[in-house]
Amino acid sequence: MSIMPAPDRYAVIGHPIAHSRSPQIHTLFAQQTHQHMTYGAIDVAPEDLALCVREFFDAGGRGLNVTVPHKETVLASSGSLSERARIAGAANTILKQADGQLLADNTDGAGLVRDLTHNLRVTVNARRVLLLGAGGAARGVLAPLLGLMPRELVIANRGVDRALALAKAFAALGPVSGTGFAGLDGACFDLIVNATAASLHSQLPPLPPGVLGPTTICYDLVYSNGDTCFTRWAREHGAAQTHIGLGMLVEQAAESFYLWRGVRPDTAPVLSLLRQQSPH
Ligand code: NAP
Repeated sequence: MSIMPAPDRYAVIGHPIAHSRSPQIHTLFAQQTHQHMTYGAIDVAPEDLALCVREFFDAGGRGLNVTVPHKETVLASSGSLSERARIAGAANTILKQADGQLLADNTDGAGLVRDLTHNLRVTVNARRVLLLGAGGAARGVLAPLLGLMPRELVIANRGVDRALALAKAFAALGPVSGTGFAGLDGACFDLIVNATAASLHSQLPPLPPGVLGPTTICYDLVYSNGDTCFTRWAREHGAAQTHIGLGMLVEQAAESFYLWRGVRPDTAPVLSLLRQQSPH
């Protein structure tokens, strides 16, 4: 009689965590690709983060996803950083390497790029891109977006200093500049990516209406049940397309899954199921 080995253990850590859709997504990926694994959710207060990460891996855990508010602080709990995590200054994925060392990586930017270019067929090359926000999410997607070679990328943030600092930090990677929202008056963009947390609080960044025209595509990193404040505003102001960040969520998860398991899941059926559960 052969005894089935225990499944490999994975989890997402955050605070709070009950809302996370990562367990559902990774469980669907595991079923689809026949991986013998479990994926849970662990609520970890900031002061317990380092201990929790250590205990998880000491107990045989194979990989973690990391979400708000731990994406930056978790870097200190990892032995080494991928280039993507170093540039982003944040990680959303931890994996245990063959030598036992923990590697922190960041798949958020790759997830956004994959959703934009593969799922939504959005062209970024030679287009004018407006990135709203200068927090962790904006920082994480900036290098991958610049890698698509837009004509220009303007970062607009409530706190202008943060936008200017981010633009300066990434200036070597492409034509990027920073401004406050008032500084956008008169400028129109092909793609607007909302990487602020405003939609989480049912708020809208104070955008001048002229930033979008009839061909503009608007993408909110926040995913919700249906529209966000931003996607509703964009549609009411005549945007060509509006999208919420569900595709990015599924694609960043697929990239993490690939890092852990060496297998790339098919994201289309998973995204389709999640869309049915949160109609847009
Ligand atoms: P963060 O580091 O706390 O930064 C928040 C950003 O939002 C800052 O730029 C802040 O501006 C801005 N902001 C907050 N409230 C605002 C308001 N009412 N009006 C205008 N700007 C406002 O947060 P984060 O980690 O960057 O996350 C941002 C969002 O991205 C979150 O809502 C998260 O859900 C989403 N996200 C989604 C995915 C996905 O897979 N779809 C992945 C990662 C993140 P100030 O600097 O002026 O305060």
